[in-house]
Amino acid sequence: MNRQPVSWAGSRRTLRRLRDIMAGAGSAQEQLDRIVTLIAGDMVAEVCSVYIRRAGEVLELFATEGLRRDAVHRTRLQVGEGLVGDIAAHGRPLALADARSHPLFAFRPETGEEAFSSLMGVPIIRGGRVLGVLVVQNRTQRQYADEEIETLQTVAMVLAELVAAGDLVKRGELRPDADLVLLPERLDGSPLSPGLAAGTALLHRPRVTIETIVAEDPEHELARLAEATVAMQSQLEELMQRPDLSVAGEPREILETYLMFARDRGWRQRIEEAIRSGLTAEAAVQKAQNDTRARMAPLADAFMRERLLDLDDLTTRLIQHLRDDPQTPTPIGEDIVIIARSLGPAELLNYDRDRLRAVVLEEGSATAHVTIIAGILALPMVGRATGILSRIESGDPILVDADSGFVYVRPGEDVHAQFTASMRRHDKLQKRYAASRDLPAKTRDGVVISLRLNAGMAGDVQHLQSTNADGIGLYRTEIPFMVRGSHPDVASQTNLYSRVLEEAVDKPVVFRTLDIGGDKLLPHFSDIAEDNPAMGWRAIRVALDRPALLRGQFRALLAAHAGREMSVMFPMVAEISEFVAARRLLDMEVARAVDRGAALPSNIRVGVMVEVPALIWQLSALLPLLDFITVGTNDLIQFLFASDRSNPRLEGRYDPLSPAVLALLTEIVDACAAADVPVTVCGEMAGRTIEAMVLVGLGFRALSMVPGSIGPVKAMVRSISSTVLADYLAALKGSPAHSLRHRLRGFALDRGVEL
Ligand code: PEP
Ligand code: MG
Repeated sequence: MNRQPVSWAGSRRTLRRLRDIMAGAGSAQEQLDRIVTLIAGDMVAEVCSVYIRRAGEVLELFATEGLRRDAVHRTRLQVGEGLVGDIAAHGRPLALADARSHPLFAFRPETGEEAFSSLMGVPIIRGGRVLGVLVVQNRTQRQYADEEIETLQTVAMVLAELVAAGDLVKRGELRPDADLVLLPERLDGSPLSPGLAAGTALLHRPRVTIETIVAEDPEHELARLAEATVAMQSQLEELMQRPDLSVAGEPREILETYLMFARDRGWRQRIEEAIRSGLTAEAAVQKAQNDTRARMAPLADAFMRERLLDLDDLTTRLIQHLRDDPQTPTPIGEDIVIIARSLGPAELLNYDRDRLRAVVLEEGSATAHVTIIAGILALPMVGRATGILSRIESGDPILVDADSGFVYVRPGEDVHAQFTASMRRHDKLQKRYAASRDLPAKTRDGVVISLRLNAGMAGDVQHLQSTNADGIGLYRTEIPFMVRGSHPDVASQTNLYSRVLEEAVDKPVVFRTLDIGGDKLLPHFSDIAEDNPAMGWRAIRVALDRPALLRGQFRALLAAHAGREMSVMFPMVAEISEFVAARRLLDMEVARAVDRGAALPSNIRVGVMVEVPALIWQLSALLPLLDFITVGTNDLIQFLFASDRSNPRLEGRYDPLSPAVLALLTEIVDACAAADVPVTVCGEMAGRTIEAMVLVGLGFRALSMVPGSIGPVKAMVRSISSTVLADYLAALKGSPAHSLRHRLRGFALDRGVEL
């Protein structure tokens, strides 16, 4: 039999009764017992049960109406076991008319639940952790309506507060590995932004506790929401006026995206609906976020997950405004290391940069906005430090090695001493690199190597100044496309490219046309799933199939370069015809600009990225057609070895310093020298000292890398003799070795090369 969905008014009544129970007399267990009886009645269910998570990933039946009472505190399930365990494991609701036929159904005879057919359960979540599961069951095969799931979720929010109070299960028990908490520990994460730092842990904004969940007067709550939203928006606007954020650049763009979210009507509407169902404004904001998290968490799309983090940030902000407490908590002392599950970029910008030393995240990824910001701020950051939140408290000493991805919590004296020594060495080196800013990157035998930067955001270009690099060797134009919510039009692209050029002053910038596809899917562009995206519809292939996209980009590049030399190159070219077709589109745009009397670049240089091996055997015919080439070793090596560059299982399996790679690179550099075509290497290889040493030895004279590599690579260049190196490499030719790294390292050590 189908039931009427529970109306908002009905859910408000339920909430009011819940509040009365919570405010009334009795122990937490007695309150819980009353709550299950109330919910079973209000939701017209024969069963209502609460399972609470206990140490060891166990869910214990804590209260029930409808199942056998003697099963309470006896029935225990592992997280992941049965339907209840599944709800807890995935943190998402389930509603099944015929639960017994579900493959995950785990029958517990002591509960007597064989009599019930349908089941609806929701996780009890607090602070992003599943604390338990709330379930209703019916004898009939009942189809639960979405509104009923919503109501049950709201009840679960109230229960979360009851569980978190610590009277049902001791708070410590809810922390995994509680017994390890005070021991020194080393956690392994992923290095996201390099550097070493020591400091005191500050748990980022310890969870906001929402004390009042149920409200009497929805209109009053709606008014509070409106007021807090305005206050939050103006705080964000104010933040954008800060001198360091008021200029165009990535942090500012990110804040703009934030404001867009903050003004999003759908988001507001969801919160307003929750208020009308009887929640306080704070609880409604939290609920809207819980719902979004539950809906979006299973998505594999990294971009969407990043947006979810942005929304988390906004949620916390809005709740703080509702409590009239909009400031970031003052960090304790100096030398702060922020610890967070995730962190929004604006949240990071809110901290006092002078006291901030590093960031450690449970989550985090290389493409997250916050990582981009940390990079720009030169702030060491480690991500995927699984378990950090349950092993550290604010005030604990912590050491962060973001070069290797290690985090030392409450380090012992010996570790501390070693780490301090490493930091000193690191600082000394950084100072030396900074001091070498104006020295030429010239080998001992007088060969000058042009060192350039890889960039992709307006903020990167400022490193031209700090590093004194010779220009931007690779500007990845897809990155600005990726951080935006919509496809940028020609005007905003022109704007962006003009800003980059302005900031580069008179140094050359090589723009690469969009390398979208593969793992760089643009959310507003395509959602095509491919089995092998890195080898799929990507880069120039997309551009040639969607010529309007490429023409728009050319139009913007031409306009931005008016009166100045323009260098543009195409990614993932596999055969000459692709280069010719792309070039033809560029010529069409030039002709269009001429027709319209638009100012043109003073000169246009056109190149290709060599990153598909097939192109190497076409170089003799290709090189006369173009002005320069750039070797993308990241892709070139993955295709050479048929070894996915982002697959951690293959990490280190093949070495860029192997005879095959060296032979291939030699072919390229020799072909370019013969044709007198300038060539640059811009893959990660070019920024790693020993690999850069080999590139110079092979004859490459221009390398493009991340800003942090300029200092170390310059020091290496200044310590080598290119001819001695070239002779040594020639002698290694034809080696059957898997890798030449050890021998090359030995060579460098013997000759005092700075690696
Ligand atoms: C490369 O493949 O080496 C390269 C520089 O391009 P991307 O890393 O952007 O694919
Ligand atoms: Mg590439």
